[in-house]
Amino acid sequence: MTKYIIVTGGVLSGLGKGVTTASIGLILKSRGIKVDVCKIDPYLNVDPGLMNPYQHGEIWITKDGYEADLDFGHYERFLDIELTSKHNITTGKVYLSVLEKERKGYYLGQTVQIIPHVTDEIKEQIYQIAQINNPEVLIVEIGGTVGDIEGMPFLEAVRQMRREHGKENVLFVHVTLVPIIRGEQKTKPTQHSVKELRSIGIQPDIIVCRCQEPLQEETKAKIALYCDVSKIDVISNHDVESVYEVPLIMEEQKLGDNIISKLNLKEKKNEIKKWKKFIEKTKNLKKKVKIAIVGKYVGMEDTYISIVEALKHAGYSLNAKVDVLWVDSEKIEEDESELKVLSEVDGILVPGGFGKRGSEGKIKAIKFAREKNIPFLGICFGFQLAAVEYARNVIGLKNANSTELDKDTPYPVVDLLPEQRNIKQLGATMRLGEIEVDVKENTIAYKIYKSKKIYERHRHRYEINPEFIETFEKHGIVFSASSDNGRRMEILEIPNHRFFIATQFHPEFKSRPLKPAPVFKAFVEACLNKKGE
Ligand code: GLN
Repeated sequence: MTKYIIVTGGVLSGLGKGVTTASIGLILKSRGIKVDVCKIDPYLNVDPGLMNPYQHGEIWITKDGYEADLDFGHYERFLDIELTSKHNITTGKVYLSVLEKERKGYYLGQTVQIIPHVTDEIKEQIYQIAQINNPEVLIVEIGGTVGDIEGMPFLEAVRQMRREHGKENVLFVHVTLVPIIRGEQKTKPTQHSVKELRSIGIQPDIIVCRCQEPLQEETKAKIALYCDVSKIDVISNHDVESVYEVPLIMEEQKLGDNIISKLNLKEKKNEIKKWKKFIEKTKNLKKKVKIAIVGKYVGMEDTYISIVEALKHAGYSLNAKVDVLWVDSEKIEEDESELKVLSEVDGILVPGGFGKRGSEGKIKAIKFAREKNIPFLGICFGFQLAAVEYARNVIGLKNANSTELDKDTPYPVVDLLPEQRNIKQLGATMRLGEIEVDVKENTIAYKIYKSKKIYERHRHRYEINPEFIETFEKHGIVFSASSDNGRRMEILEIPNHRFFIATQFHPEFKSRPLKPAPVFKAFVEACLNKKGE
C-alpha cells in the first residue's frame, strides 16, 4: 500500500513549501524509494489556467496539457518526473465532482455536507492519484497556510487519513518560519502555527523551519519542547545559494533516515552522493554569462521561474554561471534609449506572454538582438514577435502584427488558424501540452536536437499565418521545425546570425538540473562564445 507524507504550511505563504516537498521527494528517491508528488490547491478555480500571473506566478504546463501551479515545476525538476492533470486537486475540482454526484442522485437523498461527503471526495481523489503510478510514498502538498478557511476540509480529510491508516502510513510535515529579530531566532510563530494545527487534530511529526540562518541547537530544542516533537524532528531549512542545495541540508540533519524509520520504509540504495557532487560542481562554475530577459512581469521573478531554471541548468552543463538581467519591455516601449542596457549582455531572451502591453518594447529588443548580432532566444510569444519584427523591418511589411495585438493589421503574420477565428469564448481554446514536432535536417535546430522527431510542451492560441510562410522563407527566415503535418511552424531561425532561434513551444518545461533542454544549452553556449570573442 502507498504511504503518504502530507506537507502543510504555517505562519506565511511563500515559504518554499514546494521546494521542501520536492526535496523530501528527492531524498527518498535517491534511496531507491518510489515516490510520486501531488498538490492540493484550496482555491475554487477548477484549474489555474485562467489565473493572472501577477497574482500567481508562472503557469506550469504538464505533459498532458494541464495548466498547473509553479510548484509542479519544482516537483518535475527535482524528481525528474512527469506529472499530469490528475496530480492536482483543487477545491473547484472537489466541489465539481461532489455536485455532479449529487445531481446524479449518488448520495441517495442524504443531506450533502462538508463532513463526510466533501472530505470523502478529497480522500478518494488522493487515493486515485496513488493509483496512477503506484508509488511507495505519495507526497501531498497542501497549498495555503493552516488556519485559512479554504484549507479546512483538506486538513480534516488528511486528519481522517491518519486515523484510518495509522502513523506508519501517514506522516505530517509542517513548514514554518523562524524570523530573526534583533539577532534572536524567534520560535513563537512556529509554536502558534503548530497550536493551530493541533486544534484541528493534527500533530506534526516533522517541523521544517525556514530561517535566514541555520537554526541554533537551542532554537531546535525549544521548538521540540513546545511543539511536542523530538529535536531530530526539527529541521533547519536555512537560506542557501540555490534551491537545489535544500535536499542536502535536510539530509545532513538526518531527515532521510528519520522519515524511513517513521514510515517503516526500506532503503534500497543511497545515491545522495551523486546529488552532492552535482551541487559542488554548481558552486564552482568557472565561467560566467549575462543574459537579459525582456518581459512584462519583471520584478516578479516567479513569473519566469522555469526560464531562469532552464538557463541555470544549461549553464551548469557548460561550467558557466548565468546572471539574469531583468529588462522591463514597457520601459523600452516608452523610451528607446533604455535599449542601451542590452549592449552589456551576452544574450537576449524574450519569453512567452499574452497581450499588447509591453509588446512593442519586446519587438524593439528583438530588432536590437538581430541587428547587433547578439544571441537571441524567443519562446512562444517571443517566437511570434520575432516573426512580426522580421516582417516589419526586413521584409518591409509596414504595421505587420499578430492579430492578438492588432485585429486590423494589414499584414496578420501571426493569426489564429482559420477554423479558430470564429470561436468567441476564452476558455479551452489553447493548444496545450506535449506535441510531436518534426525537425528539418540540415538546419540549426537539427544540429541542436539531433533528431527528426521531438516532443515539446505548448501553450498558445496563435500561429505563424500559413499565408505568409513563403514570404518569410523568401526573405531569409528558415522554419526548421513544424507540427500538425507541416501546418504549424514550430521553430524559426536566421542562418547568418550568430544565434537567432525562436520556438513556438516551451522548451523550458522539459529542462532538468542534470538534463538541460537542448535549445537552452545551445543558446547559452552561443552566449559564452560571443563573450569569448
Ligand atoms: N499570446 C500568444 C498566443 O496565445 C503566446 C502565448 C505564450 O507565449 N505562451 O499564442
